[in-house]
Amino acid sequence: MRFLKSLLLLPVLLVAVAASPQPPPQTPAPGPVRVIGNADGGCIAGAVRLPDTAPGLQTIRLGHSSFWGHPDTVAALLDLGRRAQAAGMPDIYMGDLSGPRGGPLQGGHVSHQMGLDADVYLDLSPRPALTAAQREALEPPSFVRPDGRDVVAERWTAQQTALLRIAVGLPGTDRVLVNAAIKRHLCNTVTGDRAWLRFVRPWYGHASHMHIHFKCPPSQPQCPAGPPPPPPGDGCDASLQWWFDLLDHPAPPPAKPAAPRKPPHLPEACRAIFEAPR
Ligand SMILES: [Zn+2]
Repeated sequence: MRFLKSLLLLPVLLVAVAASPQPPPQTPAPGPVRVIGNADGGCIAGAVRLPDTAPGLQTIRLGHSSFWGHPDTVAALLDLGRRAQAAGMPDIYMGDLSGPRGGPLQGGHVSHQMGLDADVYLDLSPRPALTAAQREALEPPSFVRPDGRDVVAERWTAQQTALLRIAVGLPGTDRVLVNAAIKRHLCNTVTGDRAWLRFVRPWYGHASHMHIHFKCPPSQPQCPAGPPPPPPGDGCDASLQWWFDLLDHPAPPPAKPAAPRKPPHLPEACRAIFEAPR
């Protein structure tokens, strides 16, 4: 009877495994490349790793970060490094992409789960090649004033603006997220062609880095439909002002503590990817 009972429990346990927020193995699942996702997140098979050093870029904080992505994502980031270098910039520093099989990263981001996202630091101060220990310890600075209303004037240069523009122009870029103060600074300072500003959108945080979100490659039928494209225009409008109204009128604190986060409900097909042998 007890045996029968444990058999009956088995499907429940398997579902619990599928919904578990535990990170999947630290090796990629074998290809072909598949991107699978829903609103709670997803996973990827056939991911490739961004090299720690490539022309124009270096990964940093390797102990805290994951550098795996869809092959198109990694190719676009290598392109970013080359284009930044050709524009005369020092090496750019790369933060999180995704885990080797996707899924939730440390910190519980809903994004960064399908190999289609990358954090790129805005710090472009020239310095000699970093040792491994220095790369690990690097804490790139914030470009936003503590009051959240503007960029740090002495830190922001034309190079940061140029790097954002290069990121928007990469193959497959869907949008680039930055702090609202950075977006407003671009609105106030970019002259000439402003069409690219449409794809730089304000978001929480993102004061030291930009977040590049890439479109799901068309060959991936299990990829969720992303958000609709940004509305036409440069985005220097009421949708941006909303963020500053929020600073003027912060929302009242919630009356009672928020309920504990429920674990993400990842697509069933991700279980096979998380459990696949290397
Ligand atoms: Zn990010």
